[in-house]
Amino acid sequence: MSTNNTHKPIVLASETHGMHLSPVLVGGVRVYVECPEWCEGHEGDSPTFLQDLSHYSEQIALRGPREGAEWLMLADLRADAFGTDTDPRVVVNAGGDVVDMRPAQALKWADQVTAFADKIRGLARIAGEGQA
Ligand SMILES: [Zn+2]
Repeated sequence: MSTNNTHKPIVLASETHGMHLSPVLVGGVRVYVECPEWCEGHEGDSPTFLQDLSHYSEQIALRGPREGAEWLMLADLRADAFGTDTDPRVVVNAGGDVVDMRPAQALKWADQVTAFADKIRGLARIAGEGQA
């Protein structure tokens, strides 16, 4: 056995169910928090209280069509780590307009985004008809 793991945290049983432990400084004290599989971890987080801690997924971005354009929309998955409502939600930031959506609402909106993309494809086909 390696002797490099002297600071390995105690692994909780729930870690086997898609959860993982992440270190986080809470009020200046390092604790290990159970995170859902999609959580990116808490490096750089330093909440004062555990109740202020949220899990965040990787952020996805839609950039404008111009080369090197800034993002038009950002989205990620978030959940409060503790409290009365720890259900994950999809958070979309569209040019500073930030909306929290429950899964059903997010799926409905995603259908609208897909329909919009289909219309862009349609416009591109029409534009391409006159070209060789
Ligand atoms: Zn987390």
